[in-house]
Amino acid sequence: MALRRFLRFQRGVAAPRFAELFGDELQPLDRAPWEGGVPDGGRIALSEVTLLVPAEASKVVCIGQNYRKHAAEMGKPVPAEPLLFIKPSTALNPHGAPIRYPPDSEEVHHEAELGLVIGRRLSRASEAEAADAIFALTCINDVTARDIQRREIQHTRAKSYDTFACVGPWMVSGLSSADLRVQCRVDGQLRQDGRTSDMVFPPARLVSFISKIMTLLPGDLVSTGTPSGVGPIRPGEVVEVEIEGIGTLRNTVEKVA
Ligand code: MG
Repeated sequence: MALRRFLRFQRGVAAPRFAELFGDELQPLDRAPWEGGVPDGGRIALSEVTLLVPAEASKVVCIGQNYRKHAAEMGKPVPAEPLLFIKPSTALNPHGAPIRYPPDSEEVHHEAELGLVIGRRLSRASEAEAADAIFALTCINDVTARDIQRREIQHTRAKSYDTFACVGPWMVSGLSSADLRVQCRVDGQLRQDGRTSDMVFPPARLVSFISKIMTLLPGDLVSTGTPSGVGPIRPGEVVEVEIEGIGTLRNTVEKVA
């Protein structure tokens, strides 16, 4: 299958739209790409638009400890079943927008993750149906207030601050998720370097498992867990999540007054 890159953008005060990206030029679509959106004839330079989160997710379902070495660095066993938590849609943050460092944390961490974009409504799906429903792949930074996560049983507070779900810069369809390099750099320094082939539960299995708990909707995101090497980010730093075949998601960290 040919690789295709899709994004959501805003230009001036116009409403957000989907587009397909060709080189440095985008062609706006008449509806979401998973609904079969086709170009409306317009062509816009990528440099003229503001990128938005590529999918308007109703929820971001995240997987904890899905890489063996990361489970080990957290001092946790590899889970027998996928370990789920949710980030609210209000935490979504596009490529290029700042990560806002909350005043009640002193240890905010990066977590580079492969993101799955769901392309159709999915409930109680088999693994084959789940594989079919993964429309595209994207880069996610599951930003985490580690100090808060450590002292609480629930993940909700540590994972849900506004801007803590960075997604983008776009999504790529037609790309196999089986063995992609996932890296995180902070101010250009390599911090995480893993491969999706090291996941404990692979994408189709995760999506099937999740769909037996909650209905997944078109545009929903699944964040598949982070490889080892998580660590702190500080105000003023630039954090990048790069995934082979997709691109580089870049955000700066900004102190909230
Ligand atoms: Mg994570």
